[in-house]
Amino acid sequence: MSYYEQAMPPVRDQRLKIGDSFSGLACEILDCSKSGCMLTRNRLFWQTGACQMALTLMMAATVERAAIVMHGPIGCGSQLHALSVQTNKGKAQRGKSPVPPVWLSTNLQESDVIGGGEAKLRQTIEYADREFRPEIIFVVSTCAPNIIGDDVEEIVRSAQESAAAHVVSLHCPGFKSRVVASAYDAFYHGLLKHLPLSPEPWRDFVPHAENGPQGDLKRIEYENVKGRTINLWNATSIGVKDEEELTRLLGALGLKVRVFAEYSSADEMRLVSQAALNVSMCNVHDDYMLSFLKEKFGTPYLIAGMPIGFRDTRRWLGAIASHFGMEEEARRIADAEEERAKAAIAPFLPKIQGKRVLLCGGVVRVGTEAIVLKELGMDVLTFRAYHYDNGADEIYERVAEEFPNTRLSVSNQWFEFCNQIKKLKPDLVVSHNGTQGLLAKLGVPAVQLFDADKSFFGYGGMFSLLRRIVFTFKNTSYQKRLSAHVKFPYRDSWYEKDAFHYIKN
Ligand code: SF4
Repeated sequence: MSYYEQAMPPVRDQRLKIGDSFSGLACEILDCSKSGCMLTRNRLFWQTGACQMALTLMMAATVERAAIVMHGPIGCGSQLHALSVQTNKGKAQRGKSPVPPVWLSTNLQESDVIGGGEAKLRQTIEYADREFRPEIIFVVSTCAPNIIGDDVEEIVRSAQESAAAHVVSLHCPGFKSRVVASAYDAFYHGLLKHLPLSPEPWRDFVPHAENGPQGDLKRIEYENVKGRTINLWNATSIGVKDEEELTRLLGALGLKVRVFAEYSSADEMRLVSQAALNVSMCNVHDDYMLSFLKEKFGTPYLIAGMPIGFRDTRRWLGAIASHFGMEEEARRIADAEEERAKAAIAPFLPKIQGKRVLLCGGVVRVGTEAIVLKELGMDVLTFRAYHYDNGADEIYERVAEEFPNTRLSVSNQWFEFCNQIKKLKPDLVVSHNGTQGLLAKLGVPAVQLFDADKSFFGYGGMFSLLRRIVFTFKNTSYQKRLSAHVKFPYRDSWYEKDAFHYIKN
């Protein structure tokens, strides 16, 4: 049975060759990934990791006119208070109504863990449908119902019989995966199982217009538009400015761009199958959904790396253009854009030359960004990816060529990161968002590896990132003063050990 036919999505730990504990050279990472030894690596000591449900919620909270039913203890939904600020801003930036998502919790108690939570779940779905009239009700299944064996899928199926909204289950218990990126699959699995992804007659098109000469003209016009339409996939780390930059570049090729699945409504998602090509900027985000769309609707897809820096933006644009037979046009666009961008970044380059940088974050982004920063003249000391899977092999082939003697790691452990920073004393850390406060306490200047409010992709992104780095170097007294007054909870003896002392092969 294919993953798409199963009621529950697979976790990445099952679906891919994956690892989260590694330290060594890039060529060793590749060997380890290909031989399967990545799966067996572990640690003798762990600090806590993140819960995959948090990331699934981040995506679900962006969907327009949706209600979220958290099936679990009340605490599992606590991040939704903060999330609604972020998603409201994202909606407003995209010209959508900044209405926060409605969310409810089944508030499971000890007695429910003994007696089961199915009745509460059914009542909460019915209440959400009746009171708020959402278009979609996301039912988020957390750890507790998965441990006690609630049949969430059956409740969703039976609730759908009487609900006006689409009822979409999102199975994402935190305990089930060590890899947070499983969250993307959990979100997409819910969409592909429970939402209509094909246009509907009378709502999206007029069926009898296809008859007669007028209908033929309309059909030809429609097929032309569909043949030039690209779906860009934007999961979590890709903000509106990046969407705009990529839409601008693809627009220059005469292509029509639609962006999925964050900040889309049920009406927009119905049209997801009406495109000539699906394009993802990161296999870690979207490969699960894109393979489904290919299998179900025959839509080809392209995962051609992240368009960061001159080389990768040219490569990305060229790969899309070659699908439409427009390689020459893409080359001309890239030439013109590079000329302009090189002039714009020239004043910044002397200010970053030779600065020692450490990178940390998602596997594809850190690899790509490290290559770009090296190209611009920075000294890349090391970088660490939060996890590794075999989808990243292609980019790490290039990493191995660019950094043959640099020691890299696969780690999401803060105690190891602290150790590395104390030892290496980088001039700059380019790090996953959420870590900036801790880095300031360590006394190092930092910029975010991604930020949904800022620009990273394409030529505009290159300029914007460099400007942020230069600005960060201008005044580092805040980090210095803060670090003088903060003590981390590790003994001095920890800093004498190797940062990856606890990784066992
Ligand atoms: S790990 Fe489980 S209990 Fe904790 S927040 Fe995630 S889903 Fe809830």
